[in-house]
Amino acid sequence: MARSAYSEYYEEVEIESESDWHARSLEDVYETLETTEEGLSTDEARERLEREGPNEIEGEEGISPLQIFVDQYKPALIWVLIVATAVMAVVGHTIDAAVIAGVVVFITVFGFLQDYRAEQSIQALKEMSTTHALVRREGEKTEIDATNVVPGDVIFVESGDIVPADARIVAESNLSVDEAALTGESVGVSKEVGQIEEETSLAERENMLYKDTVVERGSGTAVVVETGPESEIGQIATALEEAEDRDTPFEAEMDRLGKLIALGVVGIVSIIAITELVIGDTQPLQVFLTAVGIAVSAVPEGLPAVVTLSLALGARRMAEKNALVRRLPIVEALGSVDVVCTDKTGTLTEEEMTVQRIVANRETYEVTGTGYDTEGEFLQDDDPVDADRVAEVLRCGMLCNNVDVGTREGEDDGNAAGDAGNEERTYLGDPTEIALFVAAQKAGFDHEEIATAYPRTGEVDFTSARKRMTTVHETPDGGTAAYMKGAPETVIERCDRELVDGDVVELTDKRRDELEHRNEAFAEDALRVMGFAYRPDVPDSQATDPDEGIEQGMVFLGLQGMLDPPRPEVPDALAGCLDAGINVVMITGDNAVTARAVGKEVGLRSATVITGSDLEAMSDEELRDVVDDVDIFARTSPEHKTRILQTLQDKGHTVAMTGDGVNDAPAVKNADVGVAMGIRGTDVTEQASDIVLLDDNFATIRDAVRGGRRIFDNVRKFVNYLLSGNGGEVTMIFSGTLAGLGLVITPIQVLWINVVTDGIPALTMGVDPAASDVMERDPRPPEEGVITERIVTSIVGIALFMTVCLLPLFTLNFYGEVIPGYDVTGAILGWSPDYEVGRDLAQTMVFTGFVVFEIVRIQAIRYRYGLGLFSNNWLVLAVAIAITLQLLVLYTSTGQLLFDVEPLALVHWAQIAVAAIVFALLMAIFVKVQDRYFERY
Ligand code: ADP
Ligand code: MG
Repeated sequence: MARSAYSEYYEEVEIESESDWHARSLEDVYETLETTEEGLSTDEARERLEREGPNEIEGEEGISPLQIFVDQYKPALIWVLIVATAVMAVVGHTIDAAVIAGVVVFITVFGFLQDYRAEQSIQALKEMSTTHALVRREGEKTEIDATNVVPGDVIFVESGDIVPADARIVAESNLSVDEAALTGESVGVSKEVGQIEEETSLAERENMLYKDTVVERGSGTAVVVETGPESEIGQIATALEEAEDRDTPFEAEMDRLGKLIALGVVGIVSIIAITELVIGDTQPLQVFLTAVGIAVSAVPEGLPAVVTLSLALGARRMAEKNALVRRLPIVEALGSVDVVCTDKTGTLTEEEMTVQRIVANRETYEVTGTGYDTEGEFLQDDDPVDADRVAEVLRCGMLCNNVDVGTREGEDDGNAAGDAGNEERTYLGDPTEIALFVAAQKAGFDHEEIATAYPRTGEVDFTSARKRMTTVHETPDGGTAAYMKGAPETVIERCDRELVDGDVVELTDKRRDELEHRNEAFAEDALRVMGFAYRPDVPDSQATDPDEGIEQGMVFLGLQGMLDPPRPEVPDALAGCLDAGINVVMITGDNAVTARAVGKEVGLRSATVITGSDLEAMSDEELRDVVDDVDIFARTSPEHKTRILQTLQDKGHTVAMTGDGVNDAPAVKNADVGVAMGIRGTDVTEQASDIVLLDDNFATIRDAVRGGRRIFDNVRKFVNYLLSGNGGEVTMIFSGTLAGLGLVITPIQVLWINVVTDGIPALTMGVDPAASDVMERDPRPPEEGVITERIVTSIVGIALFMTVCLLPLFTLNFYGEVIPGYDVTGAILGWSPDYEVGRDLAQTMVFTGFVVFEIVRIQAIRYRYGLGLFSNNWLVLAVAIAITLQLLVLYTSTGQLLFDVEPLALVHWAQIAVAAIVFALLMAIFVKVQDRYFERY
């Protein structure tokens, strides 16, 4: 990726950053930028956007139109045609030369349009998942497209965000940024407000944020100083030019194929030339014409455009089903995915959590109410109890909580939001925390009252690795207290006392065991359990800027168990994956028991669990041995994902991996198919991904795999179809020449078939429906390309059978017309005018035969996929168009003139019909034989 390119660049050329934003006073920064803490007005921002240009780096927009056009001339096959044009021009066949040249222009223009549109749609898809920026406009926090950020904007960033532009920090809390994109150093850099020396190197400018770096931890407010190409990374990027893009497997295979065909053409043409020389009847003109005929017929002119079009259409269809494809070729990898590693919370489950059980004061209570409704009661053995019994644990859940309450309009900003029944409340934040928030309201707590009574002075952040968080508050009695919540074991290990009926007593080992059992009992019912604790006596040193040191000597308060119901569509989708030979593995931070309970509910294969600590105790070999049998990894940290991924990939699996958090990005990036969450996900993960799930739903992964397999099937079908057509033409021309019949079909006729009558049905095969067994067969082995042995035999078989059926049509009509009154051999070799009459008719028969045979070929090729001719209306239309056009060629004077054809009489059609039936019978037998020999496609 460009990332490493930047850092290399840095090592080579120690770029001196010109800017001195870090060295100025904040007032000076605000003044220079003509802005304030309140940000810009909408009008001002619009003006600046016009003046400064969008906040994007050139080269980000992808491939330039010119480059796309030039690329059209890269394939060897285009050059085969260009040489053919030259040959025709030299031998004086100007019309043919012009037609072939016209086809070259047509192919390249059409190819250009396809590639250009595909490029545009992929850019459009990328845009749908572009990064957003939270800025203050008109004094209000507003979410905008990151490209619209301008100098002077006040931006807000938090963990997981990609910094939208270079900015000077004006406020921060625990802010730490990964600046690898810029400096190559992937160690978090902690950031501070302040003014520093002008000479400070880029990597040490702790009061600055730089575009495209990643916020690892904490949050901050900053004022934008430079955007787009003016930003530090923009300057390097423009200096570096674009990193070269490597060929996708598809492209590589098509490239190899093109070279093979070009080589084949040269080979066959040489054989013909030599044969002619040996026979001694050298007819240079004929040799040339045949050479051009062979060249033109061997080239699948329509193929590249059809491939691009079908990929682009496929991606569009997947986007409609909530799977945004960020890189077109990933469609290919999708078809061979055999392991899906998925998050639990939010992907397999609804992520609308509700607290259902509470442990407090050594008792267990039930909580009623569903979803985010704040009406509910506390029960013990089915009898209502006073909310006081659970008040302390609930208060802790509300204090140690970062949920925002509001009536914010518009859609949410990437956080899950839920609506409350009363007061039209909206919660912004982590669903786990929302659940705690809602539970506390059931006991009558009001968040505003609580926030006033216990003002927060500090926080030790939650991370997936720590699995707990702590906040520090002033208490109503004038003291300072810390409140902690997290995974029960990580909370309990920090406690030495517990609160029981208002008294603080020692937390004995026996009690720890009891709590452990309670925790497990909750977890077995698929509840997600959290532990709560507080610390009444916080030292002053920890009051405002606490660190992990504060999390000790805590007093245990209780547990809350919340239910996160599985999404209703997941069990079906999961069963669908298993049927399709795709193993599904759940990777979660939640505990083993909850994970297993959820795993069983959604129907994981065996619900065999390995925990993060098991994982750490295992050697790579041990993990390799068991990895195929495990389908749940619980209590994992994000780094574990990378290890699981590597082990699976080492064993030859093609892995799709989902991720949402910042730390998931490496695993998502290295996965064969990286899947990001559109709603819950962070910018970084999205940037690292190949596919974004707009609905965060596991079922969408299944649909994407299905889509990928379908597209791959379709590519295979039309590649087979187009190449077998070419094969037939080459074989016909070659055998005709060897049999001394001269050209059995003209180059222009061949071009017409390849581009028009074959080309149009091929295009429509790109949108063929999925085969009935598309999700029943095993994934395609990754090394299996488009062209398999079966397809090679198809191409050869079809080519031979077509020749067997069409050559008699030629000879019959050729000799039939020539014999009366003429010397046959003289006619063939002598190029007499009358001989041309017979040749025209015979060529017309072959030409039309090819077009009619298409129907049989389409049937034969699609048969394996369980698709009849009428399963795709576009295809039916395409065949109808092809035949209509052929009739126009045959029966209009323009057509006859252009293509040198004779209008066919009924008897000729009868001959073609007989030949087509014979061809169909031969193909039917052939396909059965193939079925016997090839299990796969
Ligand atoms: P997951 O959400 O899949 O369980 P995470 O890595 O997000 O994975 O969380 C790991 C564990 O940390 C959770 O199982 C939970 O016990 C605890 N946890 C989750 N969210 C919070 C939070 N906001 N505050 C404290 N602890 C949390
Ligand atoms: Mg989580």
